[in-house]
Amino acid sequence: MQPEMLVPPSRHEAPSSTLRPRILLVEDDTTVRRLFARILITAGFDVECASDGRAAAQQVIDNDYAAVVSDIGMPGMSGVELLRCMRAHGIATPVLLVTRSTDLSTAAEAVGHGAFQLLLKPVPPALLASEVRRATKVNAIAQTQRMAMRLFEADREEASRRAELDDTFTEMLGSLWMAYQPIVRSDGSVFGHEALMRSDSKALPHPGAMLDAAERLGRLRQLSRACREGAVKGFAGESSGKAALFVNLHASDLSDEVLLDPKGALASIAPRVVLEITERASLGPVKDVRQKIAELKALGFRIAIDDLGAGYAGLSTISVVEPEIVKLDMSLVRGVSENPVNKKLVRMIVAACKDLGIQTVAEGIETVDDQRALVALGCDYFQGFLIARPGRPFPVPSWPELRPMPDAAE
Ligand code: C2E
Ligand code: CA
Ligand code: CA
Repeated sequence: MQPEMLVPPSRHEAPSSTLRPRILLVEDDTTVRRLFARILITAGFDVECASDGRAAAQQVIDNDYAAVVSDIGMPGMSGVELLRCMRAHGIATPVLLVTRSTDLSTAAEAVGHGAFQLLLKPVPPALLASEVRRATKVNAIAQTQRMAMRLFEADREEASRRAELDDTFTEMLGSLWMAYQPIVRSDGSVFGHEALMRSDSKALPHPGAMLDAAERLGRLRQLSRACREGAVKGFAGESSGKAALFVNLHASDLSDEVLLDPKGALASIAPRVVLEITERASLGPVKDVRQKIAELKALGFRIAIDDLGAGYAGLSTISVVEPEIVKLDMSLVRGVSENPVNKKLVRMIVAACKDLGIQTVAEGIETVDDQRALVALGCDYFQGFLIARPGRPFPVPSWPELRPMPDAAE
């Protein structure tokens, strides 16, 4: 049913309608309804009317009123029943009940159900207007309080979720370990091992989840340091004494003074370390990137760009970082043997890198066909599940014997 709308009598009698509190007036007697409506409109309210309790109940469910003024004695649903129905629906809007009866039991029932005010007919116009005004003010305060409460609850829930994640993260750090994945030359001999973070935590089961949690908690630096320390410790068992250690850096690690400290654990084996800087994340927010890279190189580290072709910054990272090595992104490598576009891209990148004296790693090799294609395309180093999955130090690489493949370089 459409609510019965009543317009203000004149512009001068009431404030702008957008600021007018909206009142629902429920009264079965047309004369009284019109009279009350006029009084309230003149007092500055927007008034919608209902002529019985049932229609009013639907209107309060569907709309947000600043107050409800309702007669008690109406056919169908009484004003007290309307009030009870509103509370049952969790609607806390103040209700002013109007009655002709001086019966105390009616008053007690109304108050018992949380009526804001009981007004006796005939209601003086000034009293009706002032009580409705008071009700709308109380409603506004209560609404603000409810909103503040909801925000407070949301804050508390967020804080408790954060505290829980913080505990999970601390527990995860306790079971952190580094896996290594071999990177081999085209003859299958080991060139190096990439260190990759792992934990036995079921709640943070893979590097993506670990890094996300660290970022949310502002504990990225702590995780990165633990990974670097773990990577160096595990690498102490490397028996050839020649293999390189590939270590992943987060862009924010470039600002970590511990990484740049010549006495740091990683710096002490710097000539054997290749620092991987991913092209997935922007280096934009890092202050003095070129300077930081220069310092790392001065310490003896080699720098690699990881995920080249996954493209945050396009190839511009190459000119900023001037890396010794680039690692082609898996999206270029996987299926390269049967994808002519990727084949062309890899060939172009490898040629450009050779020109610049940069070596290339193809990572994510899963099939012999891709392995053969990438060797034929001139990549220097190879990494992927086909050769070895990451594991406790140090997984032994397998390098399927290469049969000639005439079309691989086409
Ligand atoms: P990434 O640096 O590109 O590492 C290569 C990811 O590919 C590793 O996933 C590795 O397990 C996986 N992978 C290697 N070969 C293959 C393959 O043939 N096929 C497929 N499908 N995947 C292969 P992982 O260990 O889950 O690491 C995911 C990412 O998390 C890494 O990508 C790196 O960005 C980040 N990450 C891992 N460890 C560290 C760390 O110690 N420090 C930092 N800052 N980031 C890390
Ligand atoms: Ca990497
Ligand atoms: Ca990568």
